[in-house]
Amino acid sequence: MFDAIIIGGSYAGLSAALQLARARQRILVIDAGQRRNRFATTAHGFLTQDGRAPGEIAQDARDQLMRYPDVEWLDDRVEQAQGRQDDFTVTTARSGAFSARRLLLALGVADDLPDVAGLQERWGQSVFHCPYCHGYELDQGRIGVIATSHHSMHQALLLPDWGPTTLVLNGSFEPDEEQRAQLAERGTEIETGKIKRVEGRADLLMEDGRVLSFAGLFVLPQPRIVVPLANQLGCDLKDDELYPFIKTAFTQETSVPGVFACGDAARAAGSVAVAVGDGNVAGAALHQSLVFRARETGRQAEPQAKAAAG
Ligand SMILES: Cc1cc2nc3c(=O)[nH]c(=O)nc-3n(C[C@H](O)[C@H](O)[C@H](O)COP(=O)(O)OP(=O)(O)OC[C@H]3O[C@@H](n4cnc5c(N)ncnc54)[C@H](O)[C@@H]3O)c2cc1C
Repeated sequence: MFDAIIIGGSYAGLSAALQLARARQRILVIDAGQRRNRFATTAHGFLTQDGRAPGEIAQDARDQLMRYPDVEWLDDRVEQAQGRQDDFTVTTARSGAFSARRLLLALGVADDLPDVAGLQERWGQSVFHCPYCHGYELDQGRIGVIATSHHSMHQALLLPDWGPTTLVLNGSFEPDEEQRAQLAERGTEIETGKIKRVEGRADLLMEDGRVLSFAGLFVLPQPRIVVPLANQLGCDLKDDELYPFIKTAFTQETSVPGVFACGDAARAAGSVAVAVGDGNVAGAALHQSLVFRARETGRQAEPQAKAAAG
């Protein structure tokens, strides 16, 4: 029986694990190795690590974590989770089942991209979703926003601060008068044609044969939690406008006592820094739940034990 099992050993899970390891708890980290930003060559906006390879940041964190003696690591995928506070069991794809008093879901999300030929293979290299992460490196070159719905207005209005921007509607929605005025005010151009495929670094071959060249492309992915562990455990989800994520209190505890969640799986828009921050809170709160709930349970049990004895 571990004190806690952390499912997901990337930035959020590693940060939570560090708190728990330093509190001398016996923990198991299980990680399937599918970090969300694994497609990108460099990560940006995380203090002291700006411009480093995302995998190197995670590996450094893992190396530091594994110096603590009470931490175990398993490269595997959790497929099922069940139980209740003080007695959870998770079942992995290859290594059997493990039990713990608390669970922490640091699962991240997977991104589904719109069905445009050539987009997926450029994801994280010349096709992005977060201007703060990858906008600066485009060096104020031309930016294309591939629209997926009216939500793409957000990127189309934001991105002109990184370079001259064109909103490529691609048949996904029709901006109304007010939206057109907002785009004009920001200097964003509108392209009404449909995309045949992405070529070169970030060139759009249009169905009418024109080629629109950009320094980089932006698109809104559809993020989703990959394995339905939160559903299996009965955790409430928050139905956000963009995608449902695991609902947590300020302590990062979910609606199920003893199950905590942090990082991208538990918020609408994440980043490495935020995942690390969430994980830091979750790790400490989880540890404190182990200490103080045990005392509460003990206090409740005490009179009953005395009554039974006397
Ligand atoms: C292309 C791209 C570029 C990005 N660039 C930046 C950037 O420059 N700067 C920045 O701050 N942010 C960037 N981000 C966002 C950043 O990647 C995420 O915010 C961050 O990875 C979230 O960390 P996390 O720990 O919550 O989840 P993740 O890093 O996604 O890690 C989740 C981990 O949980 C594991 N997991 C999931 N389910 C299971 C399971 N059932 N069993 C075991 N393990 C499981 C996964 O395999 C994975 O290893 C980028 C995102 C993308 C898509």
